Amino acid sequence: MSRFMNQKFAALEAYTPGEQPKDMQYIKLNTNESPFPPSKSVLDAVNSKEVAKLNLYPDPVCSTLKKKLSELYSVKPENVFVSNGSDDILNFSFMAFCNDADHPVKFPAISYGFYRVYAELYGVSYEAIPLAEDFSIRVEDYLGNNANVVIANPNAPTGLALSHAEIEQIVRANPDFVVVIDEAYVDFGAESCVDLIDRYDNLLVVRTYSKSRSMAGARLGFAFGNAELITDLEKIKFSTNPYNINRLTLRAGEAAIDEDAYYMENCKTIATIREWTQEKLRALGFTCTDSRANFIFAKHERVGGKALYLALKERGILVRHFDSPAICDYNRITVGTKEQMETLVKTISSIITKE
Ligand code: PMP
Repeated sequence: MSRFMNQKFAALEAYTPGEQPKDMQYIKLNTNESPFPPSKSVLDAVNSKEVAKLNLYPDPVCSTLKKKLSELYSVKPENVFVSNGSDDILNFSFMAFCNDADHPVKFPAISYGFYRVYAELYGVSYEAIPLAEDFSIRVEDYLGNNANVVIANPNAPTGLALSHAEIEQIVRANPDFVVVIDEAYVDFGAESCVDLIDRYDNLLVVRTYSKSRSMAGARLGFAFGNAELITDLEKIKFSTNPYNINRLTLRAGEAAIDEDAYYMENCKTIATIREWTQEKLRALGFTCTDSRANFIFAKHERVGGKALYLALKERGILVRHFDSPAICDYNRITVGTKEQMETLVKTISSIITKE
């Protein structure tokens, strides 16, 4: 740290993204990317004609993208916010809606690690609420809080989802606080609560192109909420970086909507491969949660989480291991192609017979 660093950030513990080692070609199952390429419409849209316009700023309002998203999700364009990945939207939400005086924040203790980082970044008090023994989120812990709420649904890294009715219960019980539902993984088998934004002005639903729409490398996220919530987020965006979605990503995002069926079919395929893999892993002595996401959360009856992670890495397969005591027996394994998962199962099988 330099001697110039603002002291209020000195103790900040930054988020650690999944590793991207370059020493060999890995089967990469550690950052929940899609194993499928973007649709043809996206490949066509990001063409040399668009590249030739890179001397010009992109549309900061992103009106075409918002219109397309609003049509696809049956909301109004003023209910849509778009930004540079859903991390950006979560960041803006903490900035816009949380404050230490009267709007602290609650989120599950085992969840997406960035929630804690944002709370610390903005100096907002937070409560990390323990999960139930089976890793489920106890709805009653989030009723009548005096705090904003952030919940990933499905949750990560557990993969477990709350129902639409449970989410509504939480939103209804906190009318004076913003409830952010992070639906990064919802397309793989959980219920979205987007339809609730008309009824509850305190609900913000955050989505991403990174998982179900095969665009993690492009950085594009979107959110739905009451028009006033969206205006607040726009104010933050226009006070930081109005051009935060680049021209190529914008075009890619618009084009992806035109081939939505392709992406939704991929999600179904991923869910099928997830179930197949879990069945194989259970037969090998693993316990898996009932994941509704594009990853599996699994622990073996004998081989520890870290040992398995290291043994897989040595054999060219990357999965995500978290050191935190509550989940260190587990690994989070992104669902890849059927071939990748066959290789995974075969490799795990040989590791556990040796151990
Ligand atoms: N929310 C959750 C729960 C996630 O796991 C991730 C991805 N790591 C994100 C949000 C951020 O996704 P992105 O910024 O790529 O849209």
